[in-house]
Amino acid sequence: MKTVVLKFGGTSVGSIERIKKVCKIIASYKKNKNRIIVISSAMSGVTNDLVNKSKLISNNFDRAEYDTLLSTGEQVSCALIAGRLNHIGFKSRSWMSWQIPIITEGPHSGARINKVAVKELYNYLKNGGIPIITGFQGINNKLRLTTIGRSGSDATAIMFAKFFKANECIIFTDVDGVYTTDPRQYKNAKKIKKIFYDEMLEMASLGSKVMQPTSVQDAKLNKINIQVKSSFVSKPGTLIAGSIKSFSDKIITGISSTKNDAKITIVGVKDRPGVAASIFRPLSQNLINVDMVVQNISLDGKETDLTFTIKSDDLKKTEKLIKRNKKISYKKLSFDKNVSKVSIIGVGMITTPGITYRMFQALASKKINILVISTSEIKISVLVSAKQVKKAINILHKEFKLD
Ligand code: ADP
Ligand code: ASP
Ligand code: MG
Repeated sequence: MKTVVLKFGGTSVGSIERIKKVCKIIASYKKNKNRIIVISSAMSGVTNDLVNKSKLISNNFDRAEYDTLLSTGEQVSCALIAGRLNHIGFKSRSWMSWQIPIITEGPHSGARINKVAVKELYNYLKNGGIPIITGFQGINNKLRLTTIGRSGSDATAIMFAKFFKANECIIFTDVDGVYTTDPRQYKNAKKIKKIFYDEMLEMASLGSKVMQPTSVQDAKLNKINIQVKSSFVSKPGTLIAGSIKSFSDKIITGISSTKNDAKITIVGVKDRPGVAASIFRPLSQNLINVDMVVQNISLDGKETDLTFTIKSDDLKKTEKLIKRNKKISYKKLSFDKNVSKVSIIGVGMITTPGITYRMFQALASKKINILVISTSEIKISVLVSAKQVKKAINILHKEFKLD
């Protein structure tokens, strides 16, 4: 007998019709006598709507109440799924995170699951029940509801696969697998049969929202194979598994791009040891994520220019924090709101020289200006004008023969 975790995303449970379809999928897995654990997201649009409501109440909405509010979406979808499964003759019930409980640690809205109590659920599974579990949330040691970051139901699924030693973990979504780049943006994108954890982690972190980055990290740490499949059509999906020590015949596996990035340049900063730390300390204290950073070498050792990127939502706050910062002096502050990061990812680049050159040359051939560059062992990212993202993906997809 196998234990299988099935996770359904927002679009998959986005309407009553969709929920009925999802229940047919669950039923098909149950008929093979498997032990089935279902994790569901909120119906699509619901969590965003709750976020907007909180903003209408206060632009400084209490973080604990924010999590209590946001976690309600999953209660609705889980009850509807369980209700439908009962209707078609299956033993099923919903479980809220606090009823299990799912224990998290870390701050509100960014908590991590560190334990799932298994005993009661085990008994229920043994007796043939199908538990429908709210993704994206848990409780902390003060028994307050927490959420684990947007798109967090993916991470809930991985943690259940871990704690229940599942044989399979399937992420059902609205595309039939992980593609070389977002198939909704680029029609020549190709489905990837198998992708390594590290590649998926880079792709997810660099903007491919098909999997949430934390969930991929948890899967890698716990060696949980993930299948990404469509809940709309029955087709083979993508397997996420394996470490990069394994052989790969491809140089580049995929291309990701981000939305809503902003670039900040501080011109003529008085250079001294610790100046970068002085600039970034207040940003980190305010939970502003800094992504790419470039500091020019100062010719005279006195002044330097510093460029970095953040999410555009954080731009106003960042501007305020820099202007208020008494620990630094500079000549000018400039911003660019319309930039995006385009990245190529693949373990093959470890063993293939010349990839950086090919990427830059391909972009140059289309007159795409590179603003900032950053690299790791298995990825190269460039910051470009948001207007040129499509063109950049297009040429890179061709250059690395992903078409
Ligand atoms: P869910 O609600 O099921 O969690 P998401 O919206 O979070 O679904 O993720 C699925 C979406 O991810 C797809 O609709 C697709 O547009 C987008 N996406 C971005 N990059 C990729 C990629 N490389 N492969 C597949 N889908 C991608
Ligand atoms: N409903 C949550 C969100 O929209 C969690 C999820 O979909 O995974 O972020
Ligand atoms: Mg998702």
